[in-house]
Amino acid sequence: MKLKGDQTTARAMNRRLILNLLRREGPRSRADIATVIGLSPAAVTFVVADLLEEGIVSEGKTVPGLTGRRPIPVDINYEHALAVGFKLMVDSVECVATDLATNPVAAMRVSLDGHDPHKVADLLASTVPELVKLAGRPDAKLAGIGISMPGVINHEQTACVRSYRFKWDNVPLASLVATRVHVPVWLEDDTNAYAIAQQLFGLGRQHRNMAVLAIGVGISCALVIDGKLYRGANGAAGKFGHTLYEENGRLCECGKRGCLMAYHSQISMLRRWREATGHEELGLPELSGALASGDATALALVADSGRALGTALANLVNITDPEVIVAGGEAVSLGDPFLTPLREALAARTFRTAPPLLPDWEDNSWARGAAALVTQKIFDFESSGGITDIASLASVMTAGSSSAA
Ligand SMILES: [Zn+2]
Repeated sequence: MKLKGDQTTARAMNRRLILNLLRREGPRSRADIATVIGLSPAAVTFVVADLLEEGIVSEGKTVPGLTGRRPIPVDINYEHALAVGFKLMVDSVECVATDLATNPVAAMRVSLDGHDPHKVADLLASTVPELVKLAGRPDAKLAGIGISMPGVINHEQTACVRSYRFKWDNVPLASLVATRVHVPVWLEDDTNAYAIAQQLFGLGRQHRNMAVLAIGVGISCALVIDGKLYRGANGAAGKFGHTLYEENGRLCECGKRGCLMAYHSQISMLRRWREATGHEELGLPELSGALASGDATALALVADSGRALGTALANLVNITDPEVIVAGGEAVSLGDPFLTPLREALAARTFRTAPPLLPDWEDNSWARGAAALVTQKIFDFESSGGITDIASLASVMTAGSSSAA
């Protein structure tokens, strides 16, 4: 006798397989889906009927072919709901509303005065109706909110266990926002969220093993292993910037000395360039300009950081063997003077062939990463994620009992 629980699990698994196939490959007929996944046509029809009723998939038009009627394709209805993403930075928040393919439909930036968790939650909650209004989709549903920030996040994706940049210990930010907005809220380390976006709809879409390197204020590296984000035993995997670069060296934000990011994050490169030139006011645009005009000091400094990062990255590659490395963050904009020495050092120190390093030039990938936390729940998890009517957002600022998933 088959237990009800087994049937529910099987159905959830089939649902996940079908949605992920459509996400990766685009529209497919029910017959094609059954063939590719290896399910019975009846099982596919059953799950697709559910998804159609929920509005998560829709049917396309039959294209008349030479050999008569073609089967009706089924595709994910990315317009079905909105996701909201917040990328928390030290002094501002990048805010975005996206469709379920993480395409932005509205974006704004708000400044952050201080890091009191309740005030941060108030600010995020008050921004949601503004974003939805800006998106001009009053009839759309809100699938949830994703928040990304630098730090160690718990496995439930509800609390920040530790953030050096925010000076937070055990802050349940997702729950704080969920009690104000009444939709599911998920929290994630910013590089992990960025990796999820790359995996779902970006440069990592076709890869089951990849490293996602982020070089900005800090340096970190999210790992997707066998198709899953690797978060480690304590959610602290990928803190690549805190690997040792120089014994007893410069002080890092983590309190230890000599970390890689204390020398070679984009911020650290700028600081070293200012020290070398004696000009305190110089920023990233000036550094890019100096590189473009062939300034020897700037070129040498950026090449030095490229080599150091390439060497460190080779250690990571030798341990995890990724198919590709996606590189993002402000430092990527430094271009070839930075990336060529990085690739050369990576190739020189990799045990076998170095994987291709793919720079991500898109500006809005990070906030999309936060929104992708919502989308990921819809594609990869058993439920459709508690979709809520936009109309109910009128009660956004009132306290409630809803909690994050
Ligand atoms: Zn450190």
